[in-house]
Amino acid sequence: THFGEQTVALEDKQGLVNQVFHDVADRYDLMNDLMSGGVHRLWKDAMVADLAPPRSGSRPYRVLDMAGGTGDIAERIVNTSHGYAEVVVSDINADMLRVGAERAKRWRYPAQVSFVEANAEELPFEDASFDAYTIAFGIRNVPRIQKALDEAHRVLKRGGRILVLEFSQVDVPGFDAVYKAFSDRLIPPMGRVVTGDAQPYQYLVESIRKFPDPHRFSGMLGTAGFKRVKHTAFTGNIATLFSGWKL
Ligand code: SAM
Repeated sequence: THFGEQTVALEDKQGLVNQVFHDVADRYDLMNDLMSGGVHRLWKDAMVADLAPPRSGSRPYRVLDMAGGTGDIAERIVNTSHGYAEVVVSDINADMLRVGAERAKRWRYPAQVSFVEANAEELPFEDASFDAYTIAFGIRNVPRIQKALDEAHRVLKRGGRILVLEFSQVDVPGFDAVYKAFSDRLIPPMGRVVTGDAQPYQYLVESIRKFPDPHRFSGMLGTAGFKRVKHTAFTGNIATLFSGWKL
């Protein structure tokens, strides 16, 4: 059946994604810097500035950083909160988490983080157990995006916030052609030089093109139950930050 075929394709997708991140885990941070010219750091800083985690309070402030990989977002959240926030870094890939846990030993506040292997589509966390849910450059890898957003809503407390940072389609006249040429001709070869294989990076470029546009994705956040959904474009639309509230 059509439905059957679609299910198989989605299973294949997760398998491919897992292979990509298994292969690049050890060089993932270096690749990010090379391919974005370091700009991913500024986008991540902007995401965490927008979250503005508290530095004190009467009860713990708990964040789930989903598809958290090597812990980039989590480290920024903990530092910005001056060690007050507690972050659970969760990812489907044990290799990414291993690299992240190793790195976290040298954080300023290493006790504020824990690592949990999980699929964003089926979270092993209780309802209403987090104050914020962040996901950076992760949601486009998840085969069933709506399912992941529904889960995000479930695990957030009332008053909790979701922030999603993701690549978007560049549509700025003039810049779009340059960006397309950069993506097609430079990203896969750069991937081959650093990791020995261009194919995962070909996948990266394609997954960005297939990701829903900001209005459609905002609609999916609304479907999951999020309110006051808004989005902000970064750097000529290369990346978009989405925000929503569980009210
Ligand atoms: N958030 C990190 C960052 O911004 O540097 C890592 C982003 S990395 C591009 C994407 C991550 O999504 C990978 O670590 C991958 O293992 C994870 N991922 C892919 N599918 C997932 C799923 N279904 N559930 C949880 N994590 C997933």
